[in-house]
Amino acid sequence: MNFIEEIVEKDLQEGLNDGRIQTRFPPEPNGYLHIGHVKAICMDFGIAEKYNGICNLRFDDTNPVKEDVEYVDSITNDIAWLGFRWGKIFYASDYFDRLYDLAIRFIKEGKAYVDEQTAEEIAAQKGTPTQAGQNSPYRDRPIEENLRLFQAMQNGEIEEGKMVLRAKIDMANPNMHFRDPIIYRIITSHPHHRTGKRWNVYPMYDFAHGQSDYFEGVTHSICTLEFVVHRPLYDWFIDQFVPQGEYRPHQYEFNRLNITYTVMSKRKMLQLVKEGLVAGWDDPRMPTVCGLRRRGYTAQAIRSFIDKIGYTKVEGMIDVGLLEHTVRECLKETAPRVCAIFDPVKLIITNYPEGQIENITAENIDGKPEVGTRQMPFGKELWIEREDFRQEGDKNFYRLSPMGREVRLKNAYIIQATGCEQDAEGNITTVYATYDPTSKSGTEGGNRKTKATINWVECTTAIDAQARLYDRLFAVENPSADERDFRELLNPDSLKVTTCKVESALSNAKMQDHFQFLKQGYFVVDDDSTKEQLIFNRTASLKDNWLKK
Ligand code: ATP
Ligand code: MG
Repeated sequence: MNFIEEIVEKDLQEGLNDGRIQTRFPPEPNGYLHIGHVKAICMDFGIAEKYNGICNLRFDDTNPVKEDVEYVDSITNDIAWLGFRWGKIFYASDYFDRLYDLAIRFIKEGKAYVDEQTAEEIAAQKGTPTQAGQNSPYRDRPIEENLRLFQAMQNGEIEEGKMVLRAKIDMANPNMHFRDPIIYRIITSHPHHRTGKRWNVYPMYDFAHGQSDYFEGVTHSICTLEFVVHRPLYDWFIDQFVPQGEYRPHQYEFNRLNITYTVMSKRKMLQLVKEGLVAGWDDPRMPTVCGLRRRGYTAQAIRSFIDKIGYTKVEGMIDVGLLEHTVRECLKETAPRVCAIFDPVKLIITNYPEGQIENITAENIDGKPEVGTRQMPFGKELWIEREDFRQEGDKNFYRLSPMGREVRLKNAYIIQATGCEQDAEGNITTVYATYDPTSKSGTEGGNRKTKATINWVECTTAIDAQARLYDRLFAVENPSADERDFRELLNPDSLKVTTCKVESALSNAKMQDHFQFLKQGYFVVDDDSTKEQLIFNRTASLKDNWLKK
């Protein structure tokens, strides 16, 4: 049980809010969801699921400059893909009328004023945590004038940036957020993606968030630790219009997710996308939900990772090795093992009948018949990995060499190499071998042990596929802590495009199908894949150093 669940259980025991549990997930639709958001999603939806409550989805759409329906759609899609179900979908913009009325009420009660200073002037008066700020010269303007000017702001009579509405609290408060925070600003340059041009003034986060929680009946408003310092202000606003003892939402905070070798900020991700440094929000190197999905991460793997890291009240950095370990752990259970040859050399089995193709039935995962079987065509000419043959074998090399060792072809027969052919440069072009017809896997002779098993694909039925070998996006562990620009820290080897020859059974592979390419890694069918050109993305290599650590 995490510490938020403990709070919820205590609240339930005490009968708070008549036992009602309501959370929300409040993304700003200004980018795609990343795995950091998933940590918040698992918390918000998880609490609701566990305690018979409701989690609503609320788009925090108070800044039309950066927001768009494209983001709204991707966010709902990603949450559903992760397997969570929201109660209702709300938008902060649903409350623009109520928030505006509340701002008017604040003005009438002498708790808000229109400031005409520039952003720089206001910032210069803020003071420091140990030094009080200065009052704005507009702080004590008459209520009537504030009402008139705020109305003028909304009517579009005032230019963007020329005036703001500020709460009148305390310029000397040790909490800087209390020093007359801006609660409304003018935005006329961009229409809102839902309310169009209806509004010329928009509420700031601090004024919109807690109030929206209250309007919806949220009981536990859970967010990340950077909002701890905002919490007193969150409560202050509620105190101004909700009598003590009545229902009110409460804010709780947990630690953000940060992962090594990546960035966890929509702003930086947007930059990578806009500047073409990645192929898009769903580039398989991106830590976005759609990027991870395209990389071959399953929803189960991502959720299992979030479970593993847990929730605390201290910021930290998670080793990306744990994320990679988790996806291997999940795919290991379900991904069919198939052959894909990356550096092919031809193997000819001289004593196999010319023109004959036999179908071998192979288990998708050895010893797990429930994962199914497939047909592997076998014939006289096969592709094998170049490194599986050595002309100069030695006693420590157990694969093919003319030394005469027996080697098993995965799921098929035992062979012995007899020789090879080279081109003018000395590159091996063909390997020759003989097979033992009585040694077929799955028959009695199939039990005969060899020191090595190698992978193969039958030549006439092999499919040429593209493989995109992805690696970590950044070359340094913590790009955000580096003094250099994060864009200079990208890993130049984060993508290698290559080809491979895969089994014919993969001709039916569909987008998002997962495989383990034997000895190579976990791969997924890319969204760009077609019947004519199969494309596989490497999700993760097979080597896992995590458990050793
Ligand atoms: P970013 O800094 O990437 O722009 P954000 O916090 O501005 O993220 P929002 O859309 O406002 O993005 O976030 C929605 C919710 O997701 C918030 O409750 C926020 O606390 C949470 N969240 C965002 N990033 C993380 C993270 N790295 N770890 C955990 N929760 C996060
Ligand atoms: Mg935010």
